[in-house]
Amino acid sequence: MPQGVLISAMLFETSTVQILRYDAVKGHEVETGVELCQKLDGMPDIKGVELLFPGTKMDTQQMFAEISRCNPSIQVFGGYPGGHKPNSPEHFIFDVHDVMYNSLLAVTYSGIDLHFNMNKTLGWVPLGMPFKITRAEGKHLIELNGRPAAEVYEKFLQIDRKLYNNAEEALEFPLLAHLDGDHYLRSVDHIEEDGSIWMHGFTNEDMDVHLTYGDPTRIVAMINQRLEEISRFRPQAILLYSCIVRKFFWESFTDMEMEPFARIASTAGFHTWGEVLRNTQNGYIGENNITLLSIGIREGEVPADKLPPIRVDDTVLQGQASVLRRMSRLVYTTMEELQRAHNKLTYLAEHDALTGLYNRGTIEKLIDAALDRGLTSLVMVDLDHFKRVNDTHGHDVGDTTLKEISEILTTSIRAYPGAHVGRWGGEEFFVMLPGIDENKAMVYAHHLCHVVDYHIFPTIGHLTISQGVITVRNCPDHKTAYKNVDDALYAAKDSGRNMVIQARSL
Ligand code: GH3
Ligand code: MG
Ligand code: MG
Repeated sequence: MPQGVLISAMLFETSTVQILRYDAVKGHEVETGVELCQKLDGMPDIKGVELLFPGTKMDTQQMFAEISRCNPSIQVFGGYPGGHKPNSPEHFIFDVHDVMYNSLLAVTYSGIDLHFNMNKTLGWVPLGMPFKITRAEGKHLIELNGRPAAEVYEKFLQIDRKLYNNAEEALEFPLLAHLDGDHYLRSVDHIEEDGSIWMHGFTNEDMDVHLTYGDPTRIVAMINQRLEEISRFRPQAILLYSCIVRKFFWESFTDMEMEPFARIASTAGFHTWGEVLRNTQNGYIGENNITLLSIGIREGEVPADKLPPIRVDDTVLQGQASVLRRMSRLVYTTMEELQRAHNKLTYLAEHDALTGLYNRGTIEKLIDAALDRGLTSLVMVDLDHFKRVNDTHGHDVGDTTLKEISEILTTSIRAYPGAHVGRWGGEEFFVMLPGIDENKAMVYAHHLCHVVDYHIFPTIGHLTISQGVITVRNCPDHKTAYKNVDDALYAAKDSGRNMVIQARSL
């Protein structure tokens, strides 16, 4: 690669460009965001703003939250500059006056005839199961699934936290997160010895994330899709911000995904350490890693003629890169099959095979959790004289009846938010109704009694149920609640069946 400085210039016929500079941003991200937001909203005919700053060192989350308040019609995009090696220490921007390590340049584009079309392209595909972020502070990702985050990289990718260049190894396996209807990749900046990870972008607790890997076929497909979209827009210039990780990933094929854009319009841009893009749907300015941002710019209307289709020349994928493509496909399908098997096993472990309801273990856990949270009513249901059904009509008819009762129970809780039903054993069921008091619980149980009483079962015709009901507000010893509701159920049996008995509330 030839060394040097590449200077690109954009000329506008009717639009104006202004450069806003904010210094000493670190520690003042919120104020900077507020100030810029106000400034943008005060600019007539502003259509877009490009943000250039060494973002990896700043609290971008807070700053973007402030800038996101600006008029939703303003397109926001940009990138963080950095060196062309992983862990490169130099992150700076410059203007005619200075080299800046702690400043933000906002380039505003205004004009009544100016149009933007921007989007991001990812192409990294999730590998296997999601992890939940259980502890995180901004860019510091501390725990996944309640364990040190680094364990995920150690277990699945053999990237040891003690490796001095662990970031280099982990960079190509970013985490994919879903947030506010959009998805973002997060790449590793550094894995600490304590098992936490510094990421290149912020993370939030409770987010589900997947490990991902670049699938060349998928990347090409995504780029082709974007080429089609931006071709229709007919830009006169295209700004490209391509994450530095894409360069590592593609190695000598880096240009393959960017070159076709230059066949549509003149391009300018650079390799980035973070890409900034406003989601045009929710207005939120997001920080991305590993994406290729393409910003089409046009003055005036779309010309009437159409561009011929422009696509990535991916013949090279049949050669060297095809091994990579096939390997990632292999990993992906294997993980997908494992995930399916895992989901199936989880389902079987949690559900009753005959009725499809939760099994005893699951409903007991749900009930325990509800009791710990507070007000909950429990209803224990037992079929009356069910032995006779088996004795008279056979076991198969008994099974069918249990299934039918299960459907009635499932329907009965639909109007009760957070309610669950499970098979306790044999012909006994448990219903939990969180937030439901004594009166409402009795209304539920009486109604259920009627529904079953009036239901016509095929073959057996008529069947009744007995129920015990208890309402619990505060009972740390759950055993008492289970015992008392069971006693109430047997009192209902003793008093003649087809009825509801309420235990004293706890
Ligand atoms: P009660 O009104 O006192 O509850 O009388 P019951 O006959 O319903 O109670 P009992 O406990 O004597 O009998 C329960 C019966 O439920 C016995 C058993 O054969 C039947 N049962 C339990 N699980 C199943 C099942 O999975 N399938 C079928 N068909 N029957 C089952
Ligand atoms: Mg029974
Ligand atoms: Mg029973």
